[in-house]
Amino acid sequence: MSLILGIDIGGTTMKGGFIDPKGNLTARHVVPTPGKENNEVFLNALWELIRELLDLAGDAELIGMGIGAPGPPIHTGKGMIIEASNMPGVKNAPVVPFIREKLSQRGMDIKIKINNDANAAALGQLYFGQGKEFSNFAVITLGTGVGGGLILNKRLFSGFHGNAFEAGHIPVFYPGNDVPPRRCGCGSLGCLETIASATGIKAYYQLFTGQEKRSIEIADLAKAGDADAKKVFHIAGWALGHVCVSLVHILNLEAIIFTGGLAKAKDLLLPEIEAITQERIFPFLRDRLKIFFTEGDENSGIKGAASLLFDYA
Ligand SMILES: [Zn+2]
Repeated sequence: MSLILGIDIGGTTMKGGFIDPKGNLTARHVVPTPGKENNEVFLNALWELIRELLDLAGDAELIGMGIGAPGPPIHTGKGMIIEASNMPGVKNAPVVPFIREKLSQRGMDIKIKINNDANAAALGQLYFGQGKEFSNFAVITLGTGVGGGLILNKRLFSGFHGNAFEAGHIPVFYPGNDVPPRRCGCGSLGCLETIASATGIKAYYQLFTGQEKRSIEIADLAKAGDADAKKVFHIAGWALGHVCVSLVHILNLEAIIFTGGLAKAKDLLLPEIEAITQERIFPFLRDRLKIFFTEGDENSGIKGAASLLFDYA
């Protein structure tokens, strides 16, 4: 049987597994990410994960490896992670050349593709998820940060070396003085990520109430009617809605799919997003547009990474 090895590098853990052409997963393995150390420690830990999985593959035919990496920025051409905010010890790490060298020592030569994890997530939706029925759609991941991937004509739009569609860094400014824009990790002001990520939800709730709570607790409070918690989610949905308006008017998308940890709060976010998109998108485009949330599963990252092989095949 032909298999693809998918590797999902996250800030906390690195997951890997084999995906068959139908998207079934076998031989999953997870290790911690030593992202605070240095390139050498990180790359060796990554290779240990891959080596362990190769040993589990048996005599299956391995047609390639796809790697979803944090960033930005990455360099798909050189196969490098340039920098990643959740892996401060890793800089200019030559991920693909390093793995290629290790594989060649085992007499193996396979295709290896690396891309941003949100780009990989978008491809995962196209091949194995709810993006199957669309040709032109965006995936926006709502987690600790906000990421995104764009599928145009059933291909990933990667931009120059894999850094396209950083939807989390589109600036959005809520009107009025009681919602001051926050400084983003990227250095800019008022990025979508500073509002509509778990981090943004926590920060604005703390600003309004002085209380520190997790985003999931704030979501529960909002559902129970807490005015400040409701306001925080209203602002997040408002910001997401305005980004959807821009995306649809530029790209005439058929669908926008939200995923990631905050997808659990879809009952709070989706009505706000829909209120804005209903009001502001050309009716002709709006009537064909589908906006929905999907929570995915713990293997979505591995499947997305593996699907990088299909896009470039
Ligand atoms: Zn930013």
